[in-house]
Parts: sequence; structure tokens; C-alpha cells
Amino acid sequence: MIVMHRPTWVEIDLSALRHNLLAIKKMAGPGVKIMGIIKADAYGHGDYEVGRVLLNHGVEMLGIAILEEGIQLRDKGIQAPLLLLGGLFEDQIDAVIQYNVIPAVYDLKLARVLSKRAHELHKTVQVHVYVDTGMGSIGVRYDKAVEFVKSLHDIKNIFIEGIYTHCSSSDEKESAYTNLQIRRFRDILTTLDAIKVGIPLRHMANSGAIIGYPDAYFTMVRPGLSLYGLYPSEEVSRNIGIRPVMSFKTRVIHIKDMQPGDEVGYSRTYKITKPTRVATLPFGYNDGYNRLLSSHGKVIIRGVMAPIIGRVCMDQCFVDVSHINEVCVGDEVVVYGSQGQETISIESIAKELHTIPYEVTCSVSKRVPRIYINQEEK
Ligand SMILES: *Cc1c(COP(=O)(O)O)cnc(C)c1O
Repeated sequence: MIVMHRPTWVEIDLSALRHNLLAIKKMAGPGVKIMGIIKADAYGHGDYEVGRVLLNHGVEMLGIAILEEGIQLRDKGIQAPLLLLGGLFEDQIDAVIQYNVIPAVYDLKLARVLSKRAHELHKTVQVHVYVDTGMGSIGVRYDKAVEFVKSLHDIKNIFIEGIYTHCSSSDEKESAYTNLQIRRFRDILTTLDAIKVGIPLRHMANSGAIIGYPDAYFTMVRPGLSLYGLYPSEEVSRNIGIRPVMSFKTRVIHIKDMQPGDEVGYSRTYKITKPTRVATLPFGYNDGYNRLLSSHGKVIIRGVMAPIIGRVCMDQCFVDVSHINEVCVGDEVVVYGSQGQETISIESIAKELHTIPYEVTCSVSKRVPRIYINQEEK
């Protein structure tokens, strides 16, 4: 049976994902565990599919941002430990316990409610303490962390399995601030060890820190973006040999020869001044292709770059293909990814948009089918 999907899709290369995981493991070294960050639908790549591959290849835990992500993963059969990175409301506690999601804990009042409910349900809840060493987000302030852990330690039905913090600036090279965050975290761990509050899992490093700050490894690292083959900024070294997992593709839906005096798209921002062959492509900003790429973006057709002309519409955009021989309806178009000798990187699109690569892949909307290639051998 031929399964039809919409001819605008993203291809998710699972062999690249496996390759990137191996590269990160090699970088982190033996003995350092991996928590694969699959929040936000694995940055748009599909959390269930990505999570399964990561777990098959030795990732210890998965990181999610919101409880709903955890519930969906459990409903699909993922049984691995899931750390809820994004904070918690009191009325979510029953679901956290029921779905066996590990909450980040940073508030004693919340911890007491958690303990009470766990007690009533005859359970012990594993938690990770979230320490704010300089991000300014949820988390116990670093200078209160030891006191906090001591108090938490005395609360029944709670087991402190982990303690972690998050880097705000690891996408900068040799950042003094990141080193300060590392020192603050290390001091807390040293004090806790001295008073014999042993916490097995200690983690800090996101992709930037995995690449540039080996002192941030502790016992586990938390890669997200690098699993997807992307570097968090232009500044970090390109030193771990990862490759992009996601490519965005579509097909030419229409071709038209236009004449001087014709105009293209909403508000007629592009005026035809010489005979021009224009291809219409069936994707737009509702697929997550930013409208700011109007008259700025490019695509690859038949191995040749073609510029976007006029405004990006909700469901369509237009490219000038006058210089490309024999373009046909149905030709495959690469919006980002590679074709022939040409490549359009997700990083280059992020740069064009004055944003970060994270936002580019996270923006791919739900109506764009994810097509998984190079699946695991069954
Ligand atoms: C998103 C996130 C990560 C992963 O960061 P990357 O830069 O994508 O590697 C790690 N830790 C926490 C707490 C996060 O929220």
C-alpha cells in the first residue's frame, strides 16, 4: 500500500540522530550518563519516535518541559524515567504520581504536598532538586540550596535521586559566567557530600556546555539541540561531528511564465521586470516557515538555489526559477537540508531571522508530516 502524505514534509533522519548520540557519548566520556531532552515534541522532530531511538541506544532518562508531554509519552508506552524540567502546579501532583513523572523540586511547600499525596497513595516519589545558579528561572537560589536539600531530605515519601542546574550562557565561548555557575553548583555538591547527603545524579550541561565546558559534566549531561545535529550558536566550536536530523521538503505545485509589468503575491511587493519563470510552492507561514523570509529566503530545486520572491503566504510561496532548466511540477524542493551540491542550513535560516536554530525546528507546525527515514532494524 502506498501511504500518501502531503507533499510538504520534514524528513527526520534517525541514523543522523543515532550518530549524534554516539558523538555526544564520546565527548562526555564513559561513566557520564545521558538525559535526552525531548521537550517541545523533541524540538519538532517527534518526541515518541526520537525518545524510542535514544532509549534503544543507552540514554538513561528523557527530559520534558510540561506534564502533558509526559502523559502522552506514557500513553504511547514509553516507560523510561521522565524528568519534568518545567515546573509544577499543586493540582498536577496527582497526575505526576499517577504517570510516574519525576518532578523538578524547588519549593518546600510543594514538596510537602507531594509528600502527603505520595503517602496517601503508598508511594515514594523520586525527585530532582533544581538549583538556580544564575539563570533566574524556577529553581532554588544557589545560596539557599544546601538548606533546601537538608529540609527536603527530612520529608517522607520523597527520594532525592538527582540535583541539577541550568547554564544561561554556555553558547558563549569561554564564558566567565558559565564557569561561575559551575563553581556555584560544585560548591553545593561538595557541601552536601561533606554532610553525607548523597545524591546520585548530578547534572548541568546542555549542548553548549557539552561542547565547551567539560567541568560541567558531573554524572550526567542533558543534550537537546546537539542530538538534533545543530550547534546552539555560531560561537561554539564545531568540534563534535554532529549532523542535522531534520530536512524540510516540498514539491513544485505550479509553474508560470510571467511578463514585465506582472506582480507577485500579497501587497505586490515583487514586480516582474523581465520575462520570469515563477514556481509556486505549497508551503507557507502556517507550516512554520517564517513570513520574515519573504523576498529573503531561498530553496533548492534541481540542485540549484532559487530565491523566494514576494511575500510568504499562509499556505504558499513563490520562487524565481528562470535560471533553472526544465523545472517541472512535482520536482522535489529542499527548503532546508541538502540537494546535489547545495545546502541550506537551519543555522543560516536562524541567522537570517535573528533567532536561534531551536526556534526554527520548533516552529514546524503540526500539519507538516514527519517522515522518518533510516529507521532502526526491526
Ligand atoms: C532545554 C533544556 C536542555 C537542553 O538544552 P540544549 O541547549 O538544547 O542542549 C537542558 N536542560 C534543561 C533544563 C533544558 O530546559
